Amino acid sequence: MTTMKYRTFGKSKNKISVLGFGCMRFPLIDEDSSHIDEEKSNEMLDYALKNGVNYYDTAYPYHGGASEKFVGKFFAEQGGREKIYIATKYPSWLTKTADDFDHYLNEQLEKLQTDYIDYYLLHALNHDSWVKIRDLGVLSWAEKAMADGRIRELGFSFHDKYPVFEEIVDAYDWSFAQIQYNYMDIEEQAGIKGLQYAASKGISMVVMEPIRGGRLANPPKGVADLWATSRKESSAVDWALQWVWDQVEVSLLLSGMSTLEQVKENVASADNAETGQLSESDHSLVEKVRDEYNSLSTIPCTDCKYCLPCTVEINIPRLFGMFNEARMYGTLEETRKWYARVDEDKQAAACIDCDICETKCPQHIIISDMMLKVDAVMAGGKSFDEV
Ligand code: SF4
Ligand code: SF4
Repeated sequence: MTTMKYRTFGKSKNKISVLGFGCMRFPLIDEDSSHIDEEKSNEMLDYALKNGVNYYDTAYPYHGGASEKFVGKFFAEQGGREKIYIATKYPSWLTKTADDFDHYLNEQLEKLQTDYIDYYLLHALNHDSWVKIRDLGVLSWAEKAMADGRIRELGFSFHDKYPVFEEIVDAYDWSFAQIQYNYMDIEEQAGIKGLQYAASKGISMVVMEPIRGGRLANPPKGVADLWATSRKESSAVDWALQWVWDQVEVSLLLSGMSTLEQVKENVASADNAETGQLSESDHSLVEKVRDEYNSLSTIPCTDCKYCLPCTVEINIPRLFGMFNEARMYGTLEETRKWYARVDEDKQAAACIDCDICETKCPQHIIISDMMLKVDAVMAGGKSFDEV
């Protein structure tokens, strides 16, 4: 029998389960992401609900729009809407005029079969989307929607560099914010600096991608061997989740679960979710794991973008990042499929060896040579060890 843990959250200080259900990866009945397997997904939600998960996080675009509808239907049939908290997100990138704010919120309320959204986020803010909706008056609009009861609390989710995060945090008295964060991404996007900065301003923090979209779940041998040296018999997933929960600045983490087994595994992990529970030796083991993953990264690209623009418009850091990640997280097949969708004239093979980028790279990467390697692995069927 597991006991869900709760932490206070937002301005309302509601008690929210440390595990939130991310409603973006429900099982499907076929290849179409909008065709949710409702029978299996009902079972998963049912199990989460019975085991104390009270935070359900969806968004306008999840499952091609079908996630909000499905979540709304589940809770309408289930009853007890007042006992759970629904978070959904405003599709900031679709905004054309200020009329869109009401348009999307009202559509979302209808799909979710509810009169109010407990936690409403401005979705996936980056510099451009933030400036656009800010200048269209999103904050004064949201205050009206809170006053008329359609929104209970306002937050935002974020995907950009730290300075943009700080700017957004400082722009409003937010109730909560959601960032991508895991033991590998401590310096990516908002990172640990953003987590601590926002928390110091009284903003409750939600962590998404705690297992890096599943990439930390099946570690390569070197990492698995390190985990095996621990005194605990924890899975790689449990380590990733406990590392997040350990931090006092985190209110809850979201897991985008796709099977009932994953729900059971995550609920069992939540049973042990306490702040400050990891020992010094646990932290040093996580550091060793991070170093081991990073040692698999073969191109020392820091994503500084000084090399851009490329003469033929290849997105150099993006290709290098994708190459490194495929090696680190064992996702080569998936990455090759993604690479095949990049326009041919922007793939690595399009490099004309002009060398202009190389004079600008602070890491002194021989970029044109690396492009040959990227092409050989991503399009030529070679293994990483062969290039
Ligand atoms: S060497 Fe290749 S990657 Fe670099 S700028 Fe020239 S074409 Fe682009
Ligand atoms: S300049 Fe070098 S390190 Fe910076 S993004 Fe380009 S390849 Fe990467």
